[in-house]
Amino acid sequence: MKMLTGGCACEKVRYECTDVPIVQLMCHCRDCQRSSGTAFSAFIMVASDRFRYLKSEPAFFETVAESGRLFRRGFCNHCGSQISAHWPTRPQLLLLTVGSLDDPSKFEPTAETWLARVPSWHPLHPSTVKFREAPAEGVKERIEAYFARRTQS
Ligand SMILES: [Zn+2]
Ligand SMILES: [Zn+2]
Repeated sequence: MKMLTGGCACEKVRYECTDVPIVQLMCHCRDCQRSSGTAFSAFIMVASDRFRYLKSEPAFFETVAESGRLFRRGFCNHCGSQISAHWPTRPQLLLLTVGSLDDPSKFEPTAETWLARVPSWHPLHPSTVKFREAPAEGVKERIEAYFARRTQS
């Protein structure tokens, strides 16, 4: 069953995901600000083996994140839309940008990271769990619980 579908502005890159989100979060780190062009990135984390690109794959740009880990952002090399992101050292996880979803209203954020970088003009979400930096406690537990549930069923 298709749970999430989306793609870029020119539709060169399209994707679908067949499982529920693991974690939904907003990150305010400087890399997310630079790549999104605004105050934060909004992501839905899914399992990469329940996800596929339908037409062409995005292009990737790799940075060392503020956490110190390598981080690879996927974008359409034609229209420039941000599509996805992942840690090369954790290939089982994939982040989808909320703006690339066909229905961004599906986003239900529970966590915000890198509050230390939030500019004073940006309002925060009223009900997320907030972390000054990364890694976020509670996020790791959700990831572990998701994969534990999968191995049981
Ligand atoms: Zn495109
Ligand atoms: Zn970030």
